[in-house]
Amino acid sequence: MELLNIKNLNLRDKKVFIRCDFNVPMDEFGNISDDRRIRSAVATINYCLDQDCAVILASHLGRPKGEVNEKYSLAPVARRLQQLLKRHVELASGVVDDATLKQAADLPRHEILLLENIRFEIGETKNDAALSEKLASMAEFYVNDAFGVSHRAHASVEGITKFFDDEHKAAGFLLEREIKFFGKLINEPVRPFAAIVGGSKVSGKLEALVNLLPKVDKVFIGGGMAFTFLKQLGYDIGASLVEDELLGEAQKIMDEAKKLGVKFYLPVDVVAADKFAEDAVSKIVTAQEIPNGWMGLDIGPATVRLYREGLGDVQTVLWNGPMGVYEMEKFARGSTKIAHFVADSYATTVVGGGDTADLVQRINVDEEMTFISTGGGASLELLEGKILPGVAQLIIKPE
Ligand code: AMP
Repeated sequence: MELLNIKNLNLRDKKVFIRCDFNVPMDEFGNISDDRRIRSAVATINYCLDQDCAVILASHLGRPKGEVNEKYSLAPVARRLQQLLKRHVELASGVVDDATLKQAADLPRHEILLLENIRFEIGETKNDAALSEKLASMAEFYVNDAFGVSHRAHASVEGITKFFDDEHKAAGFLLEREIKFFGKLINEPVRPFAAIVGGSKVSGKLEALVNLLPKVDKVFIGGGMAFTFLKQLGYDIGASLVEDELLGEAQKIMDEAKKLGVKFYLPVDVVAADKFAEDAVSKIVTAQEIPNGWMGLDIGPATVRLYREGLGDVQTVLWNGPMGVYEMEKFARGSTKIAHFVADSYATTVVGGGDTADLVQRINVDEEMTFISTGGGASLELLEGKILPGVAQLIIKPE
């Protein structure tokens, strides 16, 4: 899949609208706790500034649900961006109000205007054409660099692309890198290729799992989703997380893996707890011996050893979803140990955004990974084989 390339646009001295994904996590005091997404946007912004452009930036932050809410203002993002770019970033007072439209119209070259949170506008998530048109009217060029939100058909992501022809829109460097990387991973991985899949639910990752099976050599299941498989195999899983309506699907996945010759690993022991809390009483038990009323909240040490053994000869690893409730120290060991092992390996290691990216950052092994995606949901949809709505209009059509 070849995308319209920003380097082919005749940007010199023009006005460009860049949709970024500055939806960064914040702590309870409103401080940005991880600015990876902002840092990742710098290359495209700098490229446009080097082309003597006036740059208009748009992003959402959180879920303000179509209403102006100070809590979701992009002011902290503007400050961080200013530090990273080492130049002034003007934060607009609104999104498409008259004052902001005028600010955009008057924006001189080499200047940056950051619109307020695009989801202050109710039309953004509704992919409202009138909003797309207003946003498009601000600039001569449109660049999408918001991989993390490209699986959403929203006004500033999808609708807006219809107001620009192929000579006036393109993918930014980040979006292009993400799409290329996942394309290569799925279509030409160096083998053996393993997927480590965890997280809370099978439902969220079902399609990705189904799509991955024909491509991978091994699958390692962890997290809450493991229990739906274990229950289907006849284990007593106590009060562990389970999706009873997906037991049949779990069986189908295991059958399909067998048919395809994919080695399918499930936890052989777990850290079980008497409640879902940091101060729970916990013990290590085999998958066969989870006590009644107790829940498995992490993979156990025997599983860690087994997974390390299975991952030993792997050349490519795709990891999506933690092995346990890593947010609680007591149940973070399984994820941490697997993370260190993956990070230390010589394989190509790809982390599929979201919680897994957060996890590897918390334990400081992010630099050891080959690639960390900036989009959890978007990367999952790519793995499901979908064409992302925000990318569809940027694909170079065959002659
Ligand atoms: P997901 O959004 O589906 O990737 O799930 C990530 C979440 O799964 C994290 O917040 C983990 O705390 C949670 N999780 C992982 N393992 C378990 C488990 N065994 N039981 C309940 N939740 C889990």
